[in-house]
Amino acid sequence: MAKKVAVIGAGVSGLVSLKCCVDEGLEPTCFERTEDIGGLWRFKENVEDGRASIYRSVITNTSKEMSCFSDFPMPEDFPNFLHNSKLLEYFRIFAKKFDLLKYIQFQTTVLHVKRRPDFSSSGQWEVVTQSGGKEQSAIFDAVMVCSGHHILPHMPLQSFPGIERFQGQYFHSRQYKRPAGFEGKRILVIGIGNSASDIAVELSKEAAQVFISTRKGSWVLSRISEDGYPWDSVFHTRFSTMLRNVLPRAIVTWMWEQQMNRWFNHENYGLQPQNKYLLKEPILNDDLPSRILYGAVKVKPRVTGLTETSAIFEDETVEEDIDVIVFATGYTFAFPFLEESLVKVEDNRVSLYKYMFPPQLEKATLACIGLIQPLGSIFPTVELQARWATRVFKGLCSLPTEKTMMEDIVTRNERRIDLFGTSQSQILQTNYVDYLDELASEIVYVSGKSRKHSSIFKKNKFLKGV
Ligand code: FAD
Ligand code: NAP
Repeated sequence: MAKKVAVIGAGVSGLVSLKCCVDEGLEPTCFERTEDIGGLWRFKENVEDGRASIYRSVITNTSKEMSCFSDFPMPEDFPNFLHNSKLLEYFRIFAKKFDLLKYIQFQTTVLHVKRRPDFSSSGQWEVVTQSGGKEQSAIFDAVMVCSGHHILPHMPLQSFPGIERFQGQYFHSRQYKRPAGFEGKRILVIGIGNSASDIAVELSKEAAQVFISTRKGSWVLSRISEDGYPWDSVFHTRFSTMLRNVLPRAIVTWMWEQQMNRWFNHENYGLQPQNKYLLKEPILNDDLPSRILYGAVKVKPRVTGLTETSAIFEDETVEEDIDVIVFATGYTFAFPFLEESLVKVEDNRVSLYKYMFPPQLEKATLACIGLIQPLGSIFPTVELQARWATRVFKGLCSLPTEKTMMEDIVTRNERRIDLFGTSQSQILQTNYVDYLDELASEIVYVSGKSRKHSSIFKKNKFLKGV
C-alpha cells in the first residue's frame, strides 16, 4: 500500500513536495490554512495571521532561468525577473499541469503533529487539523513541513531606546503594502536587507525624505550583470563555485570585494560591509545607488536612541521630525504545531540534518522543506530537498546515524558562521551550488548499497561551502 504523506502548506515548497510524492508513488494530502496556493507569493491587501505578507511591488531577485523547476521551464514570454503576480501564475500553471490541486485541503490549519505511541517501529504521525471550527485527526506515514519562515516579524525594539516615547508611526516591513499614504513624510527605514532597500527606494519617490539605517552595511548588486545577463546566471557558475572552494580565503574575499564593487564603490555610498571577510547574501536593488545619489535616500549608521520626534545615530548625528519608522529587520520562525524538541534553534543554529531532518528521530519520516536561505534561488533548492525527502520516506535512500548527523550539524554551523556571520538574518544561510550538489548526490545513493555515511566535510577537505 502506498505510504501516506501529510504536506503542511501549499506555497512553493508544498507544491513541489506534492509533485515529488506523486512521482515516487506516495499518497499525499496537503493542508493549507488559506483558501489558495502560492504562499508568500499571493499578494493580498491585508496582512493575514500565519501567512507571509508582501508588498505590491515585489519582484523576484532570482531570474526565471535560475528559478524554474527542473522539468518545467517558465513560459518563453515571461520576463527574466518576475512580478509576484507572474510568479504566482507560474505556480498555478505548474499545479494545473501536474494536477496537484486535488491533493490540497484548503482552509485547513494543522494544529498538532504528534508521534504515534508506536513511532519507534511504525514511524507514523498523528496530524490534527482544524477546518471550519471542526477538529480532525488522521494518521500519516510521513510529514513534510512546508509552512514557510517569513511569517513572524523580528522586531528588536529593545535595541531602540526611546521607542516608547516616539510619537510617530512605526511598524514591521511585513505590514507595508504600497507607498500611498506616505507622501511628504520623513521616513526612517531600519535594516539593509532586500525588504529595507526595496521599501526605502519605493517610498523615496513619494516621501519628503527617506533615511536607511544600517549597523553593518551590505553589498548591493544589480539584477543586471555582465553583458546584460541576469546576475545569478553569471554569479552562480560551477567555475566560480570551484574557485571559491579551492582558493585561499583571503583571495576569495579579495575577488568577492572586486566583484561587488564593480558597479559602484560601496565605501562612497556609506554601504561598505563592516566585515568584508564575510560572504553574506548581497542585496539586489537596481535603484538604491541612484536614489542615494539623488539624495532621496540618505544612508545613516545604527540608531542609538529615539525621542518623541527624532532619531539619534551612532555617529551622533540627529534627524528631526521623523514621521514613520519601518522596521525591515527580518523574521524569526517557529513551528507551533510540532513538538518543541523537533526543530530547535539554539546556539544560533537550526538542529536539522542538512536543514531538513531532525536527527534524533528513530525513523526518518519528517522533513522540513524550504527552511533555508540559499545564496541563489530557493525554488530548485526546495525541489531537490523534496526529491530527497520523498526517496527517504520511500526507503530508497537512508540517513546516517544520529551521531554522524549531529557532527554534520555542528560542523556545518561552524562553517556557516565563519562564512556568513552570526547575524539573525544569516541563521539559514547556505551556499548554493555546493548545497544543491550535496542534495543531488544524496538522491542518487540507493539504500542497501554500501554507502558510507560521514560528514561531507570529512569527505571533501576543500569544501568550504555549507
Ligand atoms: P510560503 O510561501 O511562506 O508558504 C507557506 C504556506 O504554508 C502558506 O501558504 C501558509 O498559509 C501555509 N501554512 C503555514 N502554517 C500552516 C499550518 N499550520 N497549517 C496549514 N498551512 C499552513 N526566494 C527566491 O529564491 N527568490 C526570490 O526572488 C525571493 N523573493 C522573496 C521575496 C520576499 C519578500 C520574501 C519574504 C522572500 C523571498 N524569497 C525568495 C524566499 C522565499 O522564502 C521563497 O520565495 C518561497 O516563497 C518560500 O516558500 P514556502 O512554500 O517555503 O513558504
Ligand atoms: P533580512 O534579510 O533578514 O534583513 C534584515 C535586516 O535588518 C538586516 O540588514 C539586519 O542587519 C537588520 N537588523 C536586524 N536586527 C537589527 C537590529 N536589532 N538593529 C538594526 N538592524 C537590524 O530581512 P528581509 O530584508 O525582510 O529579507 C528576508 C528574506 O526575503 C531574504 O531572503 C530576502 O532576500 C528576501 N526578500 C526578497 C525580496 C525580493 O526578491 N525582491 C524582497 C524582500 C525580501 P544585520 O545584517 O546587521 O543583522
